[in-house]
Amino acid sequence: MFFFGNSFGYYRLYLPGDRMDTHSQVVDRLRSAFRSGVTVPEQFRRTQLIKLMSMIKENEEQILKALHKDLAKPKFEAVLSEVDMVINELHYAINNLKSWLQPEYVGKNLATKLDDCFIRREPLGVVLIIGAWNYPLQLLLLPMVGAIAAGNCVVIKPSEVSAATDSLIAELIPKYLSQDCCAVVSGGAEETKALLQNRFDHIFYTGSQNVARSILQAASVHLTPVTLELGGKCPCVIYGGVNITVAARRLAWAKFFNAGQSCVAPDYVLCTKATRDALLPALREVLEEFYSKEPQNCPDMSRIVSQRHWTRLMELLKNSSGKVVVGGESNEEDKYIAPTVLVDVAEDDALMKEEIFGPILPIITFESLEQSIDFINRKEKPLALYVFSDESSVVKTVLEKTSSGGFCSNDGIVHMTLPGLPFGGVGASGWGSYHGRWGFEAFSHRRACMLRGWALERLNGLRYPPYTENKLSWLRWTTSAKSSCSLM
Ligand code: NAD
Repeated sequence: MFFFGNSFGYYRLYLPGDRMDTHSQVVDRLRSAFRSGVTVPEQFRRTQLIKLMSMIKENEEQILKALHKDLAKPKFEAVLSEVDMVINELHYAINNLKSWLQPEYVGKNLATKLDDCFIRREPLGVVLIIGAWNYPLQLLLLPMVGAIAAGNCVVIKPSEVSAATDSLIAELIPKYLSQDCCAVVSGGAEETKALLQNRFDHIFYTGSQNVARSILQAASVHLTPVTLELGGKCPCVIYGGVNITVAARRLAWAKFFNAGQSCVAPDYVLCTKATRDALLPALREVLEEFYSKEPQNCPDMSRIVSQRHWTRLMELLKNSSGKVVVGGESNEEDKYIAPTVLVDVAEDDALMKEEIFGPILPIITFESLEQSIDFINRKEKPLALYVFSDESSVVKTVLEKTSSGGFCSNDGIVHMTLPGLPFGGVGASGWGSYHGRWGFEAFSHRRACMLRGWALERLNGLRYPPYTENKLSWLRWTTSAKSSCSLM
């Protein structure tokens, strides 16, 4: 199967035998398969998930190479955050699929005592998953696991920015998964806009807040429900007593993993001047320990994904009135930016106006925790919020007085590796969540089912005209909290 774009902004997909499929033909093909019911049996879903697992295991080397080509992603980080994340998600889904598909029986009232009342998880239909480039494998396949487990047909749209991973995924998916039920459509903004003109039953989008607005507009035409996995500025609050060496190590790892190009990377630090003064030498030491004296020559340091993204980051750095105290070196040709820390960063600094999404860490000082909390609450709700402190009261205060998609104390990023925890934003950082069961739920319709018989007609008769005061008082009693049973 070959994929290529054309200047008319739409994409054609070639199947063996030179059959050309436009976007609408791809969607129609998947819709026919969905309507045939082929994706519904548990065995079909399980087989597809197992095949996806084989795809990753049998092509791990190629995947690692593609990720290295796109982002100079070190093997260690690629295995942890892409390959193993997807494999673990697949194991989790395969092991839990049977129980997820069981009807969920709910509490009954007097009038429904003899009925079957349950929630049935049903597939939505043909769903579209649009990925971002920073974790180009994980961000497509993790939601895809949920979508397949839930019994949907799936179109995935990789990011054109991570071109090597994009073309590898486009080559592998049709080799392993049912071509009637899964398709890859490649391309950038124009191709995605064209693709979005088709009717989908759900759109799962990972990317920036700006593009999310266009996705919502396109979805509104067909009233398609949307999951938005967005970004924002994730704060790291450091207050009270703290083991500064360990804090520096965990902060530096979470920030500079994938060269800071993580949606859950700590975007900036909030602490007192005294903490900042203790943190800076600890960060310098830790960064040298992690990436040597010359991070540019260190194979554990990823690169910025493209020259365009490199320029954006360098502009932010140039326009900042903060003082660079660690790093600052860069090389355009190599798309390299050293792990960089800035101090004396004001609230309205260039670096504080948008998500940084690169290896640049501003430190902002406030003498009280309350001032830091106010600062966070003046901004949009972040995707993740981190607090570092030995004092449980500090952790509790930050947890209770703020809101964010996820929360982690004394570490960064790791909360998203647990499939039991929903992963997603709140407010401007995203709508909906996935990972583990939450991914299955994101792509399922919870159908409210009541299978009634003909019994208890006398009791049911209370609701029929002619209405009387006596009937009403019985009904009111049965629907009151005290009786804990409702007839309607
Ligand atoms: P992006 O929004 O530029 O691109 C994401 C996807 O949308 C790509 O597939 C791209 O081809 C497509 N796209 C781009 N412009 C489009 C348009 N006008 N119309 C339709 N589709 C379009 O985002 P990005 O640069 O790939 O990713 C960076 C952002 O994603 C950051 O804000 C980051 O925080 C966020 N992100 C969030 C998560 C999460 O799980 N919440 C994960 C990774 C990245």
